[in-house]
Amino acid sequence: MRASPLVALAGVAALLHVVVASGAEQLRPGVDYHSFANVAQFRVRSVDLDLAVDFDARRLTGHVDLNVARLDKNARRLVLDTRALDISSVSLIEKGARSTPLTFKLGPAREFLGKPLNIDMPAGPAGTSSVVRIEYRTQPQASGLQLLTPAQTAGKKHPYLFSQSQAIHARSWIPLQDTPQVRVTYRATIRVPSGLIAVMSAAHGPVDAKPDERGLTAYRFEMTEAIPSYLIAVAVGDLAFRPLGPRTGVYTEPSVLEAAAKEFVDLESMVSTCEKLFGPYRWGRYDLLILPPSAPYGGMENPRLSFITPTVIAGDRSLVSLIAHELAHSWSGNLVTNATWRDFWLNEGFTVYLERRIVEALYGQRREQMEDELGLQSLRRDLADLEPPAHHLAIDLRGQDPDEGVTQVPYEKGKLFLQFIESRFGRETLDTFLRGYFDHFAFQSIDTEQFLDYLRTNLLAKKPGAISEQEIHAWVYEPGIPGFAVLPSADVFASIDRARTAWSSGSMSTEHLPASGWSTQEWQHFLDNMPATLPRTKLDELEKAFSLSQSGNAEIAFSWFRVAIRNDYTPAYPALERYLTTIGRRKLVRPLYDDLMKSARGSELARSIYAKARPGYHPITQTAVDAIVKPGK
Ligand SMILES: [Zn+2]
Repeated sequence: MRASPLVALAGVAALLHVVVASGAEQLRPGVDYHSFANVAQFRVRSVDLDLAVDFDARRLTGHVDLNVARLDKNARRLVLDTRALDISSVSLIEKGARSTPLTFKLGPAREFLGKPLNIDMPAGPAGTSSVVRIEYRTQPQASGLQLLTPAQTAGKKHPYLFSQSQAIHARSWIPLQDTPQVRVTYRATIRVPSGLIAVMSAAHGPVDAKPDERGLTAYRFEMTEAIPSYLIAVAVGDLAFRPLGPRTGVYTEPSVLEAAAKEFVDLESMVSTCEKLFGPYRWGRYDLLILPPSAPYGGMENPRLSFITPTVIAGDRSLVSLIAHELAHSWSGNLVTNATWRDFWLNEGFTVYLERRIVEALYGQRREQMEDELGLQSLRRDLADLEPPAHHLAIDLRGQDPDEGVTQVPYEKGKLFLQFIESRFGRETLDTFLRGYFDHFAFQSIDTEQFLDYLRTNLLAKKPGAISEQEIHAWVYEPGIPGFAVLPSADVFASIDRARTAWSSGSMSTEHLPASGWSTQEWQHFLDNMPATLPRTKLDELEKAFSLSQSGNAEIAFSWFRVAIRNDYTPAYPALERYLTTIGRRKLVRPLYDDLMKSARGSELARSIYAKARPGYHPITQTAVDAIVKPGK
């Protein structure tokens, strides 16, 4: 996932502080505190879905067959994760398809986690497995699904559905063991209204030639590699496809296809570059699904089919590092997976490191250095806002929604840790180590301590003294950025800093700003580091010269709107409103609302814009903005 710089999540920081201060029970590494599942007693091995999509009722209806292995002969209760599911029956499917009803009960709801589904299981020896069928339907407010009306799509003619299961939202559309330490293969039949196409994070199987009596056409899928539940993904809409290479391509709504195919023309060479660096790509195809603008995240690394925000289509391929990021997850995250959300940095820190290596190989060192520097800036902003316990790579997220705990720490601090290892052992040695790591733990879920043990045995022992235990401890279990970190050089933006200083002090006029050749990253750095206040005339000049409010580049527009809000630059507000009511990517909208809420006038504007924008946002973005934009007194 490519998520968000954290912006003033004061509530989360305070909560973390309380948890630590109250002397909570000692955390046990490897235990998933965000799942009810009793994984030591039963393990789901495979998931077989049969779901019909009802856009009018805003529900998925059908059943799931879980192939459940019994690990403990004495266990009599299977506990699954659910959130807002209507369960109508649970039964045991025996050979010959005979079914026996099982007694089941939903337990009490727990904040952030949903409800446990307790199923009474017949006795049986350990090592046996059985098929449990659950008939159910989702609710319209399912946190892992977004159903869009035709008006909310690019084409305006057909509805659209997509899932976002990470971190703990698979349970809102499938009852299962919703923890990344359980890996499953899956099969699915998705029944959709005629004229629409279904896609999943799986190989595509046969499609029924004719609709059934309900007018639904069945699409079939199979994922033969074992994946964590958060990588099960579905989308349904009016989709078109364009191949980009022998094993790569892009799905979008038809009206976006041309622009997307141009923007992501390097996809096939990205996959080859990754393979040269980190070993074989093990998932068959790699396609992109470009989502409608309300998608909550930049991208989601669903295997074989990354889900991508359209806000990275800048027209000049300047934001494709996000694609490199999602592709890199095919190694770090999808192949070797964090066992719990405490270990999220194993997914994201490695992935940012790989992403920058891909960017360097394809677009050169300068581009890589700029992205490194911007990454460090956003890490520092987050660290300044967070309580020290939230700075740890191995983070205690008990009592928190793992979505809200996502900051730049697992991403950029995790990346800096790998950069540090590279500096002590050399790139070639680290690359060899990483290839070995991906092979050794392929299709497994591991925790922080398992990684560190592997690191000690397979790298650190080769050159004793090169990295000390104290240094490892500082990176993983202590706050801040260690003083011995190897940081990117800010020199890469020196000319931009000079231009900004000269411009803001008045010694360089707006028309003399050397901005015509600036990349997206240079614009971001120029705008993100502006003085706190600027005179109205300077803002007028910038707007007149560069039409920043109208920028088709969602990142540049975002950086500009932050400057505009800080200075209450009202001429930018109509464009700001258009932006906030069109785009639903949490990273791009949350900080803007947060900035607006800092003044009385801004708060009023934030409330009025949010009232219009909220229905179009994804539940994940709604939750984030609900916490910021509070009703006025
Ligand atoms: Zn990611």
